[in-house]
Amino acid sequence: MYTRQPFSRRGFVGGVATTLGYLGLKPGADLWAQGLEPFPGARVASGLEDEYDDFAKLANNENPWGPSEAMLKAMNEAWKYANRYGYPDGDIADAIAAHHGVGRENVLMGAGSGEILRVVGLTFLQPGKKVVGVEPSYSSVYSHASGLRAEAITLPLLEDYRQDIPAIVSTTRRSHRDVGFVYLVNPNNPTGVVVSKDEVRRVLDEIPEDVPVLIDEAYHHYVEDPSYATSVPYVLEGRPVIVARTFSKIYGMAGMRLGYAIAPAEMIRRMRPYSTGTINALVKWGGAAALKDHAGEQRVRRTTLELRKKTTSQLREMGHEVIPSETNFFMVHVGRPVPEVRDDFRKRGVLVGRPFPPMTEHLRVSVGTEQEMDRFMAAWRQIFGGVAAAGSRG
Ligand code: PLP
Repeated sequence: MYTRQPFSRRGFVGGVATTLGYLGLKPGADLWAQGLEPFPGARVASGLEDEYDDFAKLANNENPWGPSEAMLKAMNEAWKYANRYGYPDGDIADAIAAHHGVGRENVLMGAGSGEILRVVGLTFLQPGKKVVGVEPSYSSVYSHASGLRAEAITLPLLEDYRQDIPAIVSTTRRSHRDVGFVYLVNPNNPTGVVVSKDEVRRVLDEIPEDVPVLIDEAYHHYVEDPSYATSVPYVLEGRPVIVARTFSKIYGMAGMRLGYAIAPAEMIRRMRPYSTGTINALVKWGGAAALKDHAGEQRVRRTTLELRKKTTSQLREMGHEVIPSETNFFMVHVGRPVPEVRDDFRKRGVLVGRPFPPMTEHLRVSVGTEQEMDRFMAAWRQIFGGVAAAGSRG
């Protein structure tokens, strides 16, 4: 276990600059590519649009197909509200509440679930407070805690890449008074591994009952493992649980920015003043349409899972260790430092994930289109020559 102190700005900037030089990229592009500050505000520098379009984009766990026809239609029809402040908004908040069987007072929307994660930090972390979670995980919560002069207590994963539930419980109990909230990403990013419903219950039952638990379900829609379940029912039980969801993944709207929290009304009331409320007219209509478009959602899910299974089987057949994933990405052991491997892929027009310390020899690969996965496998064969990575457990 180790704690992260408020970060040094000098160290951070230095790190980015070094990597920028290494990649030979303009700053905007690199921030995006590194996923250091991925949302919001990261961008591909102007002049690099063509290069961006040509890449197979397997670095950011996006949905490569984008919004469905029904969503595009709804968004196109919403242009007429572009010049308004108050306008019919597709009843998006009610649609989200109905989708989960909760009340309107249990919903807080944000410009992506990234905003929700920040709002939770602003609400429950003051200087000296702690967020308890694992590493590697979706680290923007930990960076944000540092920025707030709070602290992240990050626990290592277990040997099989699961989150260490007993350690999360005992650490939270030990630091009870100082813990602002516990952060569970389920399934986890970057490993794709779930926390089972029994494990979530164990956390909630065994930590002090007033400690909030933020459960980030960004990749919920891709899970097949029957031991997993959403934690929304805990909100209805009145537990201090905040579930974060996003329209960026299965619904293909990462560039449009819509996410939300489901939580007990009292927690939503505390969080609301910290949210900006800046969600655009188009994405509200697109989001409402997405929740109705079950066929579109199923199509993305089915195709993503088929392509993930096909690619990971090919890698396993070649002798590479792939961590079993329940998401639209997977991690493969490459037996070499990820920055080198990432550069090798980049030279072949394929963008893949950044390093996730301490898993510095595991590459995170997002599932793209069939053509993108073919390009990934062709690049893989060139780089690794069809031979298992050194030290791969197969
Ligand atoms: N949570 C997790 C686990 C993620 O992986 C991501 C993005 O990759 C986010 C939250 C933020 O997503 P967004 O702000 O686009 O909703």
